[in-house]
Amino acid sequence: MRKFDLVVVGAGISSGSLVYNLLKQGFTGSILVLERGDKVAYGPTAFSAGGFRNLWTTEINQQLCTKAIGLLKSFQDDMGVSCGFNQSGYLFTYYAKTWEKIPAAAEIWAKNCVNFELLTPEQIEAKIPGMKCGIDHMDPEVAEFLEFQPIVGGVFGKDCGAFDPSQAAVGYFERAMDFKARPTLQLNTEVLKVTFDGARATGLVVKDANGVEETIQAGVVALCCGPWINELLRRSGCPESDLTPIISQKRMMFITDFPGAPNEDKRWHDIPLTIIDQGIYFKNESGNLMIGKARKDEPDSFDTTFEPDYYRDEVNLPMQERIPSTAVCKLKAGWGGLYDTNTADHNAIVGWHDEHPGLLLQVGYSGHGAMESPAVGIGLAELILTGKYQTIDCTPLRWSRFREGALVHEKIVI
Ligand SMILES: Cc1cc2nc3c(=O)[nH]c(=O)nc-3n(C[C@H](O)[C@H](O)[C@H](O)COP(=O)(O)OP(=O)(O)OC[C@H]3O[C@@H](n4cnc5c(N)ncnc54)[C@H](O)[C@@H]3O)c2cc1C
Repeated sequence: MRKFDLVVVGAGISSGSLVYNLLKQGFTGSILVLERGDKVAYGPTAFSAGGFRNLWTTEINQQLCTKAIGLLKSFQDDMGVSCGFNQSGYLFTYYAKTWEKIPAAAEIWAKNCVNFELLTPEQIEAKIPGMKCGIDHMDPEVAEFLEFQPIVGGVFGKDCGAFDPSQAAVGYFERAMDFKARPTLQLNTEVLKVTFDGARATGLVVKDANGVEETIQAGVVALCCGPWINELLRRSGCPESDLTPIISQKRMMFITDFPGAPNEDKRWHDIPLTIIDQGIYFKNESGNLMIGKARKDEPDSFDTTFEPDYYRDEVNLPMQERIPSTAVCKLKAGWGGLYDTNTADHNAIVGWHDEHPGLLLQVGYSGHGAMESPAVGIGLAELILTGKYQTIDCTPLRWSRFREGALVHEKIVI
């Protein structure tokens, strides 16, 4: 029977960060990474918008993202692989009622050295060509139907931006292969279940591409398997009380052309990742626009079917009302991916599973795993090697917080 000191389920960015940082911190044991897909970044990591920001309402998210932004900024120099780092900023826009809450959030940002500016509607319009913060230009019936209100202010995060999470995942695995204790990366392999001796995780049962099943022993089993976490724990015989409050939700990205605009107005090349009415967000994507919008009450499902009609019916109209120049945009491409949404507090679940010694979790990122996992991987490596977090204390994100009632509510979730 094959035996490894650490077996990691999943080969996305969170797995790559964990494995690389563990080796970097001196782990000399044997590591096996199991992925059902045929490549690194086969799952949601590949479908991400790749936004990063340190504008959060919870301190743990601010700390993790501030750390991660520094890591991503020097990724090319440190790792020898570009991760497409682009620090073009993040711009959140607000109606009057939410704007009232910003001074309290700004206090926390200032305390945590988050680099931000509060913008007037005029300053917002100067950053996004053609955007109109008021609603006077709109047909009043349309404004009412869309429940639009005037945008009264914005928060601009200068250190924020976007990167390519797949490239970062590839970079982590490539550099991990340089260490003497080079990990084994086994693709096209489904993990059927985690095995336990009593409560302790002892290994896994896997099935390879030829349908051959194998039991593998593991000192530690790390689950970096995104929205499939509960499915795997159930198959492993865990009771419902040992699962996570994670559901799987489709999120779509839309790529539209933008005839003329970026060439005519160079400001389009430098737009920040911008969040407007109804949670619509967009950024420049090589002269096109990448646009996203979460559907309200998206069901718990592994379905990733791309729905162009959703763009036409739910995204295009509000977008062109707020930025009339986008009326010319035509949908070119798009895709559906999955969020591992933590329904309890929209934050990651990180660290040991309290009921199962030897079982490590890094799941439930709820749409911010690409930007946080570079920092979380450092913390989890410290936890495995030394028994405690040293760089950033990730204990607020522990699995047991749900039963302890110690939720970490994040209010700025897209
Ligand atoms: C449309 C969209 C936009 C997003 N935008 C952003 C953003 O702007 N910023 C941001 O930070 N995050 C964003 N995210 C979220 C981000 O992509 C994820 O949080 C992050 O990629 C999670 O990485 P991961 O490595 O934990 O898991 P995943 O990428 O989910 O990888 C898990 C892997 O585990 C494998 N796996 C699962 N179960 C098994 C099994 N039983 N056996 C074998 N293999 C298994 C899967 O095949 C998969 O490859 C977005 C996500 C989507 C879908």
